[in-house]
Amino acid sequence: MEVGVLAIQGDFAEHIAVLGKLGVKAREIRLPEQMASLDALIIPGGESTTLSRLMTIYNLREPLQKMAAEGRAIWGTCAGMIMLSREITEQDPIPLGIMDIGVQRNAFGRQVDSFEQALNVTILGPDLFHAIFIRAPVIIRVGEGVDVLAALDAKRPVAVQQGRLLATSFHPELTDDYRFHSYFLELARGNGSSPNVQKAGSESGSSSDSSGNGPR
Ligand code: GLN
Repeated sequence: MEVGVLAIQGDFAEHIAVLGKLGVKAREIRLPEQMASLDALIIPGGESTTLSRLMTIYNLREPLQKMAAEGRAIWGTCAGMIMLSREITEQDPIPLGIMDIGVQRNAFGRQVDSFEQALNVTILGPDLFHAIFIRAPVIIRVGEGVDVLAALDAKRPVAVQQGRLLATSFHPELTDDYRFHSYFLELARGNGSSPNVQKAGSESGSSSDSSGNGPR
């Protein structure tokens, strides 16, 4: 399985390190042609206006949208989640519109308002997940076919999944709890346990499914 981490800005090195600990040698992705053979890609946290501009300059928008349309797995963390969304509350940056979610940037305030919180994430098992929020966005709209995997409260989802697409407001790559990365790799292999994995794949008309016939 070919796994890449978008390496144009943000904390891509930390994601690559975690994947390495899970036995996956992930590639740094900077150019459109490097994306063709990927089964899965992580868009890291960083700064979404910068990410957005660089995606435009390097012609990465279309290949990213194509990856999603083909049912290949993509996970956005924090700024990466902002980029995956369909709409955000501000004019800038321009998101990729890949996931049916609406997002508000910097929803908890400024850098000093960053915080850590133990989250209940059912798909990862009974142990709480220690989530690190750094000037984090929050999800303010969840479309049909999108599952909420974790939330701060009923109105503030912070981890969602749509088929093989995953988005988290927080930074699992900054902890030594690798369960989210393992879950993403399982999703990429076609084994995600979310109830909508099958539905979302078939609804989008893509070739993705959870029967093992999807792209790997
Ligand atoms: N506040 C940043 C943004 O809006 C995201 C921060 C992060 O990725 N940790 O792009």
